[in-house]
Amino acid sequence: MRAVVLHGPGDVRVDEVDGPTLLEPGDAIVEVTATAICGADLFPYHGLTPGFEPGTVLGHEFVGIVREVGPAVERILPGQRVVNGSMTRDGTCAYCRLGLPTQCEGRSLFGYSGVYPRLDGGQAELVRIPRADLVLEPLPDSVSDEAGVFVADILPTGWGAVVRGGVEAGDTVCVVGCGPVGLMAILAAVHHGARVLAVDGIETRRALAASLGAEALDPEQAADGVAQATGGLGADVVIEAAGSQEALDAALRLARGRGTVSVVGAHFEPDYPLDNLHMFEHELTLRFTIGDPTNDRVRLLELLAAGAIDPAAIVTHRLPLADAAEAYRLFDAREATKVVLTP
Ligand SMILES: [Zn+2]
Repeated sequence: MRAVVLHGPGDVRVDEVDGPTLLEPGDAIVEVTATAICGADLFPYHGLTPGFEPGTVLGHEFVGIVREVGPAVERILPGQRVVNGSMTRDGTCAYCRLGLPTQCEGRSLFGYSGVYPRLDGGQAELVRIPRADLVLEPLPDSVSDEAGVFVADILPTGWGAVVRGGVEAGDTVCVVGCGPVGLMAILAAVHHGARVLAVDGIETRRALAASLGAEALDPEQAADGVAQATGGLGADVVIEAAGSQEALDAALRLARGRGTVSVVGAHFEPDYPLDNLHMFEHELTLRFTIGDPTNDRVRLLELLAAGAIDPAAIVTHRLPLADAAEAYRLFDAREATKVVLTP
């Protein structure tokens, strides 16, 4: 089968590799019909993921058709259209029993190795799914493959930023960073009835943010724009979706007193100089969140099926799997905002 394989930093190729087989009784094999590239794929792409194994098949956002299931699979059936959860879970550890699968002690991330036990991903024709009954979710007929792909990771991530940020109708929310995750947070905040301001340095991303219902600002305008929109108070909730120290610094200063800064940008720096004086004086709440498809996808699929939200509006490039190397170049260069690949 053809699969997108990372050979080394910046070296993505579409290789002919052995197709996956059932290894455990709870496994399934899915034939991928659409898959996407995510910002989290760019860390190994840049050689920033310690211990990442060359030869790993990439991709943690995919939909497809179930082709085979193991003897222990009950809920998921051959022939079903399904979407994956970007991370697997064991369903048995203390965190899973608490209903917190993003902290599962046995989790892996599709398309990753090194930081998690290796699990080949879905930027391929076929993919093996461990614990299929826990990891896969059937797609309603009225949800397209392109929209369904968003339920694997970034839509739950944007949704989680809004819900765990405590956003309420009528709030003023400022989203810092309008990459795919930030755009999903805008979609979710607008759906929650908030007024949304969005900050990004790239014009095309500001235009996409505006098309989803936000008032777009470039970083230089952010402080004044938020002050004007809030009578000088600051935003009720600031969502940091860029994953950089600069963005987090800016987010902390755009929130009102007793406001909340909800972080879904992927941060890996261990030594961030938090301005405690500012945090204390403004009584800020700082909250980090990892997207939780397991707990949020049923609700999100209902909203997609009802046409209440349309994440596919941010897809800028649709390419065959064979063009994956170019797709990574475009996405990395931010010439593409969201790329969907079809095998
Ligand atoms: Zn667990």
